[in-house]
Amino acid sequence: MSQDGLVVERTGGVLALTLDRPEKRNALNTALLARIGEELERAARDSTVQVLVLRATGDHFCAGFDLDTVQADERSEDRMLREREQLFERALFLRDLPMPTIAAVQGACVAAGLLLSQMCDLVVASDDAFFYDPLPRMGGVGLEVLIEPWDIGIRRAKRYLFTGERIPAADALQLGMVTDLATREELPNVVQSLATRITDMPPRTLSLIKRSLNRTQDLMGMRDSLEYHFAMHQLGHASAESQALLHAAREGRPLKDYFRERDEGQL
Ligand code: ZN
Repeated sequence: MSQDGLVVERTGGVLALTLDRPEKRNALNTALLARIGEELERAARDSTVQVLVLRATGDHFCAGFDLDTVQADERSEDRMLREREQLFERALFLRDLPMPTIAAVQGACVAAGLLLSQMCDLVVASDDAFFYDPLPRMGGVGLEVLIEPWDIGIRRAKRYLFTGERIPAADALQLGMVTDLATREELPNVVQSLATRITDMPPRTLSLIKRSLNRTQDLMGMRDSLEYHFAMHQLGHASAESQALLHAAREGRPLKDYFRERDEGQL
């Protein structure tokens, strides 16, 4: 049963969390993020969960943070604390869950959606999926967690962050953001089969392997870099470029129109 836009299903050692707000392209609002947080904490304490699958109902994995919940007049210090708890810490908690995790991505995987998909260990995408961090186009200093350098390398990160372009699934596979591709129809089966192969493995061993791999990345500087980026991200929220978009949203202007006007030099 869907509660606050999340369906939780358990089959053997596999726990599946399904984003279930298809009418909103599974945009993440405060209630849904809190529900995801609760379920991740529950899973972390349950040693019988061998694999966690994160997937979504409908045509799109996730359209990002629900702009309906963004307050244009939120004070900087309140935003910083909210984003740290709601997005930064939660994303890293997902990354560090003791069991392997798999994201099943179809359609759009945008902004905060990337915080969920790319914090999973494995990412299976349908061939029509695309990965898109539109924040730089919106005057945002990337996402709250700067994933790109760790997923695709510094130079490619610059390539995509400087242009704000989408990364189609086939390219994401080549770049290493995605581990497996499937057709839209086959996506659930491919994820199921991958999850089954993982549950056939010795769970404590996998947990230790995961811990070691994550620690390797931490020792490469990931944690410190993410903390530094979070500070830059907060600085970015205070910029006139970032505020202009919030004002457009507060005036009820469709963001597509805002981008069109801006891109045509009218702003
Ligand atoms: Zn932010």
